Amino acid sequence: MSATRDHDQHQPWLWSQETWEQKLNKARAGRSLKPAKWKNGAQMAVAVSFDSDHETFELRNGGESISRLSQGQYGARRGMPRILALLEKYDVPASFFMPAVSAMINAEEVKTVVSAGHELGMHSWIHEFNSRLDHDTERDLALRAADMLEKLSGQRPVGMRTASWDFSPFTLAIAREMGLLYDSSLMADDDPYELLEDGEPTGIVEIPVEWIRDDAPYVAMDRMTGARPYGGPVMVADILKREMDVAWEEGGLFQVTLHPHHVGHRSRIFILEEVLRHARDKGDVWFCTHADLARYCAEECGLTKP
Ligand SMILES: [Zn+2]
Repeated sequence: MSATRDHDQHQPWLWSQETWEQKLNKARAGRSLKPAKWKNGAQMAVAVSFDSDHETFELRNGGESISRLSQGQYGARRGMPRILALLEKYDVPASFFMPAVSAMINAEEVKTVVSAGHELGMHSWIHEFNSRLDHDTERDLALRAADMLEKLSGQRPVGMRTASWDFSPFTLAIAREMGLLYDSSLMADDDPYELLEDGEPTGIVEIPVEWIRDDAPYVAMDRMTGARPYGGPVMVADILKREMDVAWEEGGLFQVTLHPHHVGHRSRIFILEEVLRHARDKGDVWFCTHADLARYCAEECGLTKP
């Protein structure tokens, strides 16, 4: 079989075993990092996160639509104050993942988030898709993004979430080179696990996400494409509470990803409040940032960087 045919993206049935194994093993779930018990013996860990994309969700597509740019600005202008007020009301720490450009546009927001005790994590440069970049470009953008967040917040980010959870064959190697504690972009489990690269342990914690626990797929709407909401906000709150109920029964992690420009609206902000109230009503819950969670899992499970 020729090398050309072996690597043909459109004819995977012609691949050698070695070819598909290479793809499979670029970033794969290793051992579970679910600790024997959560901090202070809690029954469930609750990690709430927000992807503060704001204007970059349109800039990354070319920035042609002034209308969509204004929707992004709404996230910073009206969504964020509502979100921060609810987190304060329930005394819950959260993780905010920000593209560097979003942080530059909204530099005051960065300071507010960090001074309230929340975590600021990496979320690309301008919400670019990693899988469309070569290695050097992706690496350069990741390093510049970390530098920019550190400059604006005074803290070096310890974790990342790739934009649109788009993970290239180079992403994990770049995260390792940067010495990151964790990633939160992949979906192989409900609970934290160690990432393997080419079959080898990396010492990097994966805090898994899922589109199921993300507001965007349920409520996003784009006038110019076929993107339309397929359920109302009541449905979203119901799904998240069901996810949490089983996490509680299993003694596991409940992780959620919300977007200020989606959940921050008057008719949707109750989704966040119901999630926080549902967790608090269960009683024995550890509310943590993604960084707190990754640190705890790493320590409890004896994770080391090779
Ligand atoms: Zn995003």
